Amino acid sequence: MNISISTTSIQYVKGVGPAKAKLFENLGVNTIEELLYLFPNRYEDRRNITPIAQTITGEYQAITGTVVSHKARKSWHTKKHLTEVVIDDGGGRIVCVWFNQPYLDSYFQKGRCVICYGKIDQFKNRLQMVSPDYEILQDEEDKESLSLNRIVPIYPLTRGITQRFLRKIVDYVVAVYGDQLSDELPKDLRAKHKLLPIRESIAQIHFPNDFDDYEQALRRVSFEEFYFFQICVILRRLSITLKDGAVHKILDSDALKFIDGFGFELTAAQKNVIREIRRDMSRRAPMLRLLQGDVGSGKTIVALFGCYMAFMCNRQSAVMAPTEILARQHFANVQKLIDDGVLKGVRAELLVSSLKAKEKDSIVKAIEAGDVDLVIGTHALLSEDVKFNNLSYVVVDEQHKFGVRQRAVLSEKGNNPDILIMTATPIPRTLCMTLYGDLDVSIIDEMPQGRGKVRTKHFSHEEFDKVAAFVKGKLKEGRQAYFVYPLIDESEKLDLKAAEDAYKYFKKEVFKGFRIGLIHGKLKRAETEKIMTAFKNKEIDVLITTTVVEVGVDVANATVMVIEHAERFGLAQLHQLRGRIGRGGHDGYCCLISDPVTEEAQKRLKAIVKTTDGFKIAQHDLEIRGPGRYFGRHQHGLNELKVANPATQIDILKLARDEAIALTEDDPKLSKTKNQPIKCILRERYPTFLRDVEAG
Ligand code: ADP
Ligand code: MG
Repeated sequence: MNISISTTSIQYVKGVGPAKAKLFENLGVNTIEELLYLFPNRYEDRRNITPIAQTITGEYQAITGTVVSHKARKSWHTKKHLTEVVIDDGGGRIVCVWFNQPYLDSYFQKGRCVICYGKIDQFKNRLQMVSPDYEILQDEEDKESLSLNRIVPIYPLTRGITQRFLRKIVDYVVAVYGDQLSDELPKDLRAKHKLLPIRESIAQIHFPNDFDDYEQALRRVSFEEFYFFQICVILRRLSITLKDGAVHKILDSDALKFIDGFGFELTAAQKNVIREIRRDMSRRAPMLRLLQGDVGSGKTIVALFGCYMAFMCNRQSAVMAPTEILARQHFANVQKLIDDGVLKGVRAELLVSSLKAKEKDSIVKAIEAGDVDLVIGTHALLSEDVKFNNLSYVVVDEQHKFGVRQRAVLSEKGNNPDILIMTATPIPRTLCMTLYGDLDVSIIDEMPQGRGKVRTKHFSHEEFDKVAAFVKGKLKEGRQAYFVYPLIDESEKLDLKAAEDAYKYFKKEVFKGFRIGLIHGKLKRAETEKIMTAFKNKEIDVLITTTVVEVGVDVANATVMVIEHAERFGLAQLHQLRGRIGRGGHDGYCCLISDPVTEEAQKRLKAIVKTTDGFKIAQHDLEIRGPGRYFGRHQHGLNELKVANPATQIDILKLARDEAIALTEDDPKLSKTKNQPIKCILRERYPTFLRDVEAG
């Protein structure tokens, strides 16, 4: 059939039609090609249908038989609706039970042939399956086909589309249109790495012959995703580093003046990273470096070393922070360093949107005239009227809060400046490689001396009074405390309600006499910052918050953090949160309040109580949650990986990455004729990515 699968709507596929096509939209499927790429969530091994008489209690097994009776009743103790269906396969009987799905009552008509897959139980001397996956087999033919005697794909569904229907349509589309899938991965690579043709891979991913074939198919598809994504990431890097930037050279004695200029000794890790930055910045090729380190590890000083270098070379630098309060904090630190003499002579300005127009105006003018050496600001820096005289060093704090485009906008204000990206969210190596390609990475893995220790302990909700008494004790010693409530769902008001209730209750009862503050996601930014500032100034004793407490805000006197429903937070997030306490000389106390139900949640809580290493926690989190959710929903790029998972397919990632490096080393701008097909594919797959590269 000669139609274009990438443009033809699914509605023209036999058996679909306009109404179903509309439903497919909910699954992100519009075209035939998109249906071919709608991959199963998981598989069930139904190659072996177990005779009911031979089922093994405790195992997941598939059985098939005829419905001999069905009835609906209320469960006597939970009052739930209960559907009970007895299935007979000639050699034995089993009872299947479903809760609260009354529509099932009429579904399992007597005499119907069904297949069920689930865990086999023994209950009152009879065999039983609770809430098994089920399917009604409409005719004998079904037994031969898609749902039985094979490894069966389980797809993501939407209302009005069933597994049976989807399997039938996918099977048809694979058979009829599969041949039209074109192999975008170059032939030599396929041969070299023994990768299956795409057509076969797609067919195997939907209906695997066996798990080995499935692995091969997955390997092929993941390789392809990694390969093209890595080329993009590397091209983006090259579009920055292949240019000519400023050469910053300073004397050893001047470098030492900075390093020895603090009232404390820099950690070995800090000195190391300073050395790396100095080396990079003294080269003509622009630096592109990611600086990672836990909250409080002393990244800011290290980043400011670059500003110092730029200053010594008569050039400007800029530091961009995600919020005004952070920008102000950086600015205050810088002013102190100017007064202390470490940054002697540096003319620094703060540029944030809350400034009065007149004030902003004069700062903008001074920046353009070159009368300012160091500008610290927020998104306000990105404004079109902010122009620099000779910007040659840029720091982006908390990278994942900014898009790649924003980073580019700032650096385009200079002449290929050196770029340092800072993050306090530990990014596991594999994910880092995936996202940032060859970005150079510096890690501060050592905390300054003399910091208090942070102790983490887990409590049940019943123990809340105990926790409250402990917090009160600390407040009486003059410390401050955070209470963090999880964001259940942005669209729900529940989270806010929990925090508001706590606010009232704390004020009237638990912490009567203390000053309580509340911040939540619905507050305006200015309002949030006002309360954070009051907390910082010790005008508030207990801060209740539903949102993640402003990343990186320094409140050294806040040493207690209570996290409610801790099981609802990701591990990396919990680690970030507790990084906010124990920043001064006092010990910090993190109380996790949670009654975890699942075994997995219990494991996670144990891990956070036991482990203090952010990277270990991050790796763990990545494995559990997958890459898509690691940074939250909108993290650029990661959405492009549909099946490939950097946490579990490191070997494939490395192979693909090596090939991407080989390609781009040979042709860093993909300008050779033979590489035009690849460029076309990238343009189609990553339109915004490539635009950045081509603009840059
Ligand atoms: P980060 O940005 O990594 O969260 P900061 O750079 O804000 O950490 O440092 C946190 C605090 O620790 C600051 O008050 C800073 O002056 C201080 N600090 C940084 N490095 C050291 C060190 N080596 N020894 C003692 N204190 C340090
Ligand atoms: Mg900081």
